[in-house]
Amino acid sequence: MDYRKNEKVTVQIDDIGNDGEGIGKVDGYTLFVKDAVIGDTVEAKITKVKKNYGYARVEKVIKPSPFRVVPKCALYRQCGGCQIQAMSYERQLIFKQDKIKNNLIRIGGFSEGFIESVMEPIVGMDNPWHYRNKAQYPVGYDKEGNLVTGFYAGRTHDIIANTDCLLGASENRMILEAVLSYMKENNVPAYQEKSGKGLVRHILIRTGFDSGDIMVCVVVNGKRLPAEEELVKKLIGIPLAENNAKVGIRQKEVMDGFAGKRMTSISLSVNTERNNVIMGKETRTLWGSDYIEDSIRFLPTGEKVKFHISPLSFYQVNPRQTEKLYNIALDYAGLSGKETVWDLYCGIGTISLFLAKCAKQVYGVEIVPEAIADARENAKLNGLTNVEFHVGKAEEVLPEKYEKEGIRADVIVVDPPRKGCDEKCLETMLMMRPERIVYVSCDSATLARDLRVLTDGGYEIKKVRGVDQFGGTVHVETVVLIQRKDT
Ligand code: SAH
Repeated sequence: MDYRKNEKVTVQIDDIGNDGEGIGKVDGYTLFVKDAVIGDTVEAKITKVKKNYGYARVEKVIKPSPFRVVPKCALYRQCGGCQIQAMSYERQLIFKQDKIKNNLIRIGGFSEGFIESVMEPIVGMDNPWHYRNKAQYPVGYDKEGNLVTGFYAGRTHDIIANTDCLLGASENRMILEAVLSYMKENNVPAYQEKSGKGLVRHILIRTGFDSGDIMVCVVVNGKRLPAEEELVKKLIGIPLAENNAKVGIRQKEVMDGFAGKRMTSISLSVNTERNNVIMGKETRTLWGSDYIEDSIRFLPTGEKVKFHISPLSFYQVNPRQTEKLYNIALDYAGLSGKETVWDLYCGIGTISLFLAKCAKQVYGVEIVPEAIADARENAKLNGLTNVEFHVGKAEEVLPEKYEKEGIRADVIVVDPPRKGCDEKCLETMLMMRPERIVYVSCDSATLARDLRVLTDGGYEIKKVRGVDQFGGTVHVETVVLIQRKDT
């Protein structure tokens, strides 16, 4: 097949790739078409030609798919944040369910029939907009040299100016504008990756959807900012009460117990490294509290579990879905009150505290010391005394505790970052022989790889359930219940 770069072809899209791209064939030649929706017939421009397949992007939709919707965000095609906003939410959920299933079959080597027999229906969102409680906006300059903040365009570090992302909280726009206006008035330069010069790198905003607390953390290439008090003045001067009144009704519909948003914590993160890591290691509070508070409902009793969250700590980005996720994980753990449970990759101890309410003793392990400080505080805040936290790598702490202290586990919960569990961690889990393992994963490819190791080590998958935490994007969370075969 002789296709060339920039050539235009008509293609019918009959599949979706893992990154959300449409897949179709022209005369037997496979094309991966960016921004095409399954079911579309499109005119596509070829962007890259390989021997057996090529890449293209949509020029014109000739016949729209029944699953195609008008993307709500005008910057959708440029921005790298959302990949499948042009697909109806119902179809996005089917895509995510299939993605989990296909990874388990292809990477995990499980049979289709078996996976279908253990898979429960994916848990979707009631409202797939304004769901994120956290955003990190890069600050820089556009091509004309204007100071901008927004999002990186897909696969690049060019900033698309956008202060009003539809996935985030509505007041983020005012916060970003306040920081930009402080920078302009005080001649504070944005950081420039190429030269390593300039000051402001990123703006992190976190909102407690239940508490209404807002955290703003400005990441700076240096120890301090000029006229820091001016920045604080701008941020605490934002008319949040007016905004609350304006958007209150809509937010009340989606947020139970919403008490109105308020500025709670303003801090500066020192990051002078020339790398892609957003946050620096040192944080200094400029105003207010060092942390924000939020809570997630423990469904068996309806009570709220409260959390302190510091700038460096991980906290799930979609609190409404997190409530469902944690309660499924808890249900899968099948606790009676007698169990010893390990919660690996525990962050600020969110899942650990849910488990502690139903188990005899819980141990949490997490690599970020600030998160463990939050976790200990959170145990106290909720009056839980049967939980103990350890700072360190799961793959080091667990073997050490097992080999030296002979600790045991009835249930192990893991919730690793995208790269999945370390081999040594899986190996130790197998040696500890817990009755059940609950695996919470944000990447079903590494999940599938790790499930193969666990099942080869004497365990079997009992239940798999997707929970959509990230509408508009190709990401999906998965919870799996794995049981020891001889129990
Ligand atoms: N269970 C928590 C956090 C999950 S995110 C929650 O639901 O909120 C994954 C966590 O793993 C992050 O907090 C990250 O800091 C931590 N982490 C990353 N690598 C780790 C490792 N090797 N050992 C222990 N924790 C690690």
